[in-house]
Amino acid sequence: MPRVAIEATAQAVLNFNGSGLSVMEVSHRGKDFEAVLNETQALVKEILSVPDGYSVLFLGGGASMQFCMVPFNLLEKKAAYLNTGTWSSKAMKEAKGFGETVEVASSKDANFSYIPKNYTIPTDVDYFHITTNNTIFGTQLKTDMNVNTMLVADMSSDIFSRPTDVSRYGLIYAGAQKNLSCAGVTLVIVKNDILGKVSRHIPSMLDYRVHIENDSMYNTPPVLPIFTALQTLKWIKTNGGVEGMQKLNKTKAAILYDEIDRNKLFKGTAATEDRSVMNICFVMADGYKELEDEFMKFAQSKGMVGIKGHRSVGGFRASTYNAMPIESVQALVDCMKEFESKK
Ligand code: PLP
Repeated sequence: MPRVAIEATAQAVLNFNGSGLSVMEVSHRGKDFEAVLNETQALVKEILSVPDGYSVLFLGGGASMQFCMVPFNLLEKKAAYLNTGTWSSKAMKEAKGFGETVEVASSKDANFSYIPKNYTIPTDVDYFHITTNNTIFGTQLKTDMNVNTMLVADMSSDIFSRPTDVSRYGLIYAGAQKNLSCAGVTLVIVKNDILGKVSRHIPSMLDYRVHIENDSMYNTPPVLPIFTALQTLKWIKTNGGVEGMQKLNKTKAAILYDEIDRNKLFKGTAATEDRSVMNICFVMADGYKELEDEFMKFAQSKGMVGIKGHRSVGGFRASTYNAMPIESVQALVDCMKEFESKK
């Protein structure tokens, strides 16, 4: 997270708006927090150029709750899913309880190391669900798809990392804890006119329309994570918006992928054309597998934190989310070079 967002949050935890109260104890219906919520919504709209006719919601339950809210609200008969990893698989599993679910393509055959291409989406589906960035496997759909059906996207791990044409989507959701805020709030951007078309009863808390009518205040919203989201959005805006983020992200990813490709000890795990700019996965190259633990210890001794790959991929994963400075990526590259020079 951006340091300024953490510091502004720390300050507001101690004393919110000079009120003498903590942001953790003010009323969510008070004027001060209402202003925070309104500004956060407005900045999401501004930064992503959200067109008219869409609502911006801040909900609880994590992105995983959206795996069920999406079909609850949108799946009447049939939905299509692109299976690009653990999170897509989980989203699809939830949808199965609500109607027919079609897996249009999957990259499971190669441990989700690529994004499937050249598949057909049935024309009679209620929506087509994609995961734009596969956090665990390090693959990414880098452009907005142009499809003839309603597109629903889980953008949990790459929202605000690049300009996004929101008009191509019926619904976008993102757990905040990568590029937006601390854990505890989920951003949902939904086109109003896609709602109200399913025949089932939807419990209030799971009904997007209820949250729209109540402006994310149907129940107590996650106040602190929303406050922090606002600070992050301000930081994004002053750092060139999503165009600025994209430029920075591409630069950071290029620095690390270039080293992975150059250094004989390492190799990337994702198909080159689908490599994520957010989660960069790599393993020891063939012939050097036994050096994995040694490199991990060496990297830790150089101050690297959290680079262990997910158990389903192994090796290493460097998450280069928006707020990760170039210097930190360079430090990892230097560490890889130094390790190589010792071998
Ligand atoms: N979708 C993606 C792409 C994720 O990366 C994650 C978590 O890392 C989730 C969904 C699940 O998010 P949550 O833990 O907020 O339910």
